[in-house]
Amino acid sequence: MADKSFNPFEMAQAQFDSVADMLDLEQGTRDLLRFNQREFHVSIPVRMDDGNVQVFRGFRVQHNDARGPAKGGIRFHPMETIDTVRALAMWMTWKCAVVDIPLGGAKGGVICDPHNLSQREQEGICRGWVRQLSKNLGPLNDVPAPDVMTNPQHMLWMLDEYEAVRGEKLPGFITGKPVGMGGSLGRTEATGYGVIFNVREALKELDIPPADTTASFQGFGNVAQYAIELYTQIWGKVICVSCWDQQDQTSYSFRKSGGIDLEELQGITDRFGGIDKDKAEGLGYEVLPGDAWIEQDVDILIPAALENQITGDNVGKISDKVKIIAEGANGPTAPEADKEIAKRDIFMLPDLLANAGGVTCSYFEQVQCNMNYFWEKDEVIGKLDTQITNAFEAVNEMRKSKDIYARDAAYVIAVGRVAEACRERGWV
Ligand code: NAD
Repeated sequence: MADKSFNPFEMAQAQFDSVADMLDLEQGTRDLLRFNQREFHVSIPVRMDDGNVQVFRGFRVQHNDARGPAKGGIRFHPMETIDTVRALAMWMTWKCAVVDIPLGGAKGGVICDPHNLSQREQEGICRGWVRQLSKNLGPLNDVPAPDVMTNPQHMLWMLDEYEAVRGEKLPGFITGKPVGMGGSLGRTEATGYGVIFNVREALKELDIPPADTTASFQGFGNVAQYAIELYTQIWGKVICVSCWDQQDQTSYSFRKSGGIDLEELQGITDRFGGIDKDKAEGLGYEVLPGDAWIEQDVDILIPAALENQITGDNVGKISDKVKIIAEGANGPTAPEADKEIAKRDIFMLPDLLANAGGVTCSYFEQVQCNMNYFWEKDEVIGKLDTQITNAFEAVNEMRKSKDIYARDAAYVIAVGRVAEACRERGWV
């Protein structure tokens, strides 16, 4: 999925190398963790609606399963590449480790464009992917989930195929299923809420009452909307959000200095997180250029849209008032920008910690499926809060005790835990 000049796997390996140096990891552990443990390439023949057979290429990469079954989503994308899947699998290992859930990291992908495929053709790809990989997947070794352009319906087709191949009911095989079909309550909210559990703890650390703070968001999709819901409940005020405009093929920011009204904005937002700008203007929002979200005079910036959004070019636009950046998106901050943010002493809540609520709740879904007993939503959210708050505390403690940048602290904890599990198993 990457553009040709950018290799995400090389970036993931470079990040790992620098943490390995900090941890002074022995060569064998470095050689193991720099690469993925297993990688599968599959060809999936599908009979198309016009009667012809088209063959789709797919992948599953298991980076490391020393701490438990590998876990990670499957993406459908026309530009999917094996190096993107490799990088994402590695990042999943670190994310599961930093929040201390007993899972490893994996990722999958199929090169296809769902926009140009009928439901029946997509079902064929889902079932074919599972048929090719069923021996290597399962509740006890590798658990897929939805990701870019895959959804609960795709997960159900995959589950159905897996159970048909195995001849038994195994709902813990996959997460992100619809509620009522083995999905967990609270999953929709989990990532956004997890972002705000982190923000709440960071504000406590900085001794700032949430009610005295303002925030600006990039994005107004699943992560941003639930983060705004919880942030507003703890009395924070959001003054700006941004989104992609499909019609104009550009992004816009929407500002209301008195604070946005979440429900009002949701009422004029499509299912892709795009806000109707004429209606927004009618409701008194200032409609500004897409990157205006980053230059607002706020206490908290929450990039929750895409990767590579805070860069060397725009990091200088961040107001002196900003005290916290919480990465709802994966990889929104480029390495050059990171250096500047660290220098300015802004409290960074890095993606592997800030947006780990989603995978934590997926783990809860798997646990509930394996027990065949489902929890109330309050119980799910309560357990999520505990898990994320504990992870925040561990990262914050590491940050302070070693006097290092919070992203490095999160990586040191995550890589350290995985390396330890490999050592304890006698692998290295
Ligand atoms: P989404 O598709 O629901 O929403 C994305 C939002 O970003 C939309 O409002 C869209 O208009 C906006 N957007 C897209 N391009 C933009 C641009 N150039 N400028 C401004 N806004 C833009 O996606 P989501 O599920 O909210 O995920 C957002 C990010 O969080 C992604 O990086 C995703 O990988 C990451 N993430 C999501 C989850 C999850 O559980 N949903 C978990 C972990 C990480």
